[in-house]
Amino acid sequence: MPGPLPFDLDTLKKIAQTYPTPFYIYDEQAIRANVRRFLKSFDWLPFKQYFAVKATPNPYIVKLLAEEGLGADCSTLAELVLAEKVGLKGHDIMFSSNNTPAEDYIKARELGAFINLDDISQLDYLEDVAGLPECISFRYNPGSGFIEGNAIIGKPEEAKWGLTREQMFQAYALAQQKGIRRFGLHTMVVSNETDVHNIIKTALVMFELASELHRKLSIRLEYINLGGGVGIPYHPDEHPVDLEVWGRSVRKLYEEIIIPAGINNGSQPVALATECGRLITGPYGYLVCLVLHKKAIYKNYVGLDASMADLMRPGMYGAYHHITVPGKETAPHDCCYDVTGGLCENNDKFAIDRMLPHIDCGDYVVIHDAGAHGRAMGFNYNGKLRTKELLLKPDGSIQMIRRAETLDDLFATLDFENL
Ligand SMILES: *Cc1c(COP(=O)(O)O)cnc(C)c1O
Repeated sequence: MPGPLPFDLDTLKKIAQTYPTPFYIYDEQAIRANVRRFLKSFDWLPFKQYFAVKATPNPYIVKLLAEEGLGADCSTLAELVLAEKVGLKGHDIMFSSNNTPAEDYIKARELGAFINLDDISQLDYLEDVAGLPECISFRYNPGSGFIEGNAIIGKPEEAKWGLTREQMFQAYALAQQKGIRRFGLHTMVVSNETDVHNIIKTALVMFELASELHRKLSIRLEYINLGGGVGIPYHPDEHPVDLEVWGRSVRKLYEEIIIPAGINNGSQPVALATECGRLITGPYGYLVCLVLHKKAIYKNYVGLDASMADLMRPGMYGAYHHITVPGKETAPHDCCYDVTGGLCENNDKFAIDRMLPHIDCGDYVVIHDAGAHGRAMGFNYNGKLRTKELLLKPDGSIQMIRRAETLDDLFATLDFENL
């Protein structure tokens, strides 16, 4: 169930006087509280959560997460540069990329990041273009029979990422031949998964693989990265993942599998890592819009000042995002609307056949759970300008952490002078 809004209609009106809609707004206090809860459930061993920068690539967000002890999970040069600007470096950065260009590896090496390879071929490539680091990990793709998969990441055996089980052993052996002695292990097989059993299963599969790597190749892993993909309850019928159950269950598996396997090297236990994005910021970001127009044809439409260019999840995945009309929370939800943007694209809809209170032009509409993979997936189709981002501080004040795009930004790559 999406939580209540951290602002009421009067506050919203005041914010919008200074910062006209549409805008994204993130709730700093709620983000920090959630991170602390999360870290607490893994406080029984060396643990690092690397925030998947792609989810909310804003330096102010990454910085406040770094203040809470999180690192950055980067997949591209731009994300590495953003992490660097925030002051992160070394093993506070996890570089989990795929189909990687040389300059990305060069930057990851320069920053001293953990490098996590998506294919066996990448070992030679990395060595050629940037040299080998002291510590390396490979991304495991467990293939069929793991879990059903879902609309976002698909079935593991259909997904482009990672190495097969057989290749994992070849890859670590090859890395050993090349003189590498320090290793991690990585996977990322679920996406927006809210069933804690599937999330725990990831740990089981990885711990068993870690034991086998140790048995066959005498590899003592320094860390096991369980990836991201932990889901959030977008729909009122869904429930959040119980972080305590997750932590406790992983601990049990760790004690049953990792410790007896003898991988723990005395005072140096195998660390765990995650690279969650959605779980960290998703529920605490909102897209705030104004109703520009209404129309009634074969269906009833409410037209917002934002579009799919600001939040593409509903249009791209058919994803549900809860909608609140501030000031009308308790009014009867007896009107059925399609809530749309203004793109020349019929999947530019934030909601289809949604029961909402009666909506008037000039009402605010708040789209929930837009704090991850929201603004970040924005685009400029139809020349739509991407929105600003605001941070709601714990003292109630507002900080603009990204301005809105302007037409000059949009046209910056064009040359009108020499037409
Ligand atoms: C996208 C991604 C993540 C984060 O996914 P969430 O669903 O936001 O938790 C983590 N690791 C990798 C490699 C990714 O591609």
